[in-house]
Amino acid sequence: MSIIATEVVKVYGKQHALNGVSFSITGSDVVGFLGPNGAGKSTMMKIITCFIPPTSGSVTVCGLDVMKQSIEVRRLIGYLPEHNPLYLDMYVREYLHFIGEIYKVPQLKKRIESMIEMVGLGPEAHKKVEALSKGYRQRVGLAQAMIHDPKVLILDEPTSGLDPNQLVEIRALIKEIGKEKTVMLSTHIMQEVEAICNRTIIINKGNIVADGPTSELRSGTSGGYELLVEFTGAISRNALLKVKGVADATNESGHIWIIRCATSDDIRKDISEMALKENVAVITMSRREQRLEEIFKELTTRIAK
Ligand code: ADP
Ligand code: MG
Repeated sequence: MSIIATEVVKVYGKQHALNGVSFSITGSDVVGFLGPNGAGKSTMMKIITCFIPPTSGSVTVCGLDVMKQSIEVRRLIGYLPEHNPLYLDMYVREYLHFIGEIYKVPQLKKRIESMIEMVGLGPEAHKKVEALSKGYRQRVGLAQAMIHDPKVLILDEPTSGLDPNQLVEIRALIKEIGKEKTVMLSTHIMQEVEAICNRTIIINKGNIVADGPTSELRSGTSGGYELLVEFTGAISRNALLKVKGVADATNESGHIWIIRCATSDDIRKDISEMALKENVAVITMSRREQRLEEIFKELTTRIAK
């Protein structure tokens, strides 16, 4: 099970959508493909799934070239496109049957029932697709993507437009699927990768700006944090800036300061010691990690400069 992209470039007319994207995904896992709108996520996914060719570069899926062996690649891949184009007029089973026949799925009837069970469509399976809520339509989309038991699943913004309950359920389902398959899912939401992806590839303006374990995303940046500190009395900004690791200090109100730390070291003791030298004491001090949104912003603006 693998997806290997090498120096993939895609140009639409004059629009450069991908500027030499390379990554390698192997084994069963849920990998997040994170980036703001227009970053190139859908373009990359359409190339992996053989819907559009790259301008240059190559992609292989399980060792097969998407350009030269597209029929074989399509058999290995399940794809949930961004806007999940379902046939609204069909019944759920009828639709899955239609897709299953295209892939010549053996024992299709049985397979459809096990897909319905797997994605939790049971109570809605007798309905027409048009009668389903967005969350159930996404389940139909997942069922069609998996009907031929692909090794690799490509899900383009699978949770967009879902309400909070549906979100939790679909995320749990994707996580479960990722235990047995290679799942690549795109999203523009940082919390999404934190919730379900072990690894995250961040793309911005057609360039990969970060790639690694989701838990280590922070280390690619300043890795800093903020301290909210209340002192017993007045203290000067200069005194705060003298403490090693302090990048900035802003007065919040009265004797309360927000201290920006450009280090991952814990400098709370240093702050307290400095305060004592200035003849004030610390009343409260709380630490706030750099939020993933900020990391994302930092990573995506850095490359844009
Ligand atoms: P994302 O999925 O990350 O939002 P896309 O891959 O859809 O990004 O788009 C990447 C860039 O390529 C955008 O600037 C978009 O406007 C452009 N683009 C996408 N598809 C086409 C197309 N068919 N023709 C021209 N430009 C396109
Ligand atoms: Mg997209």
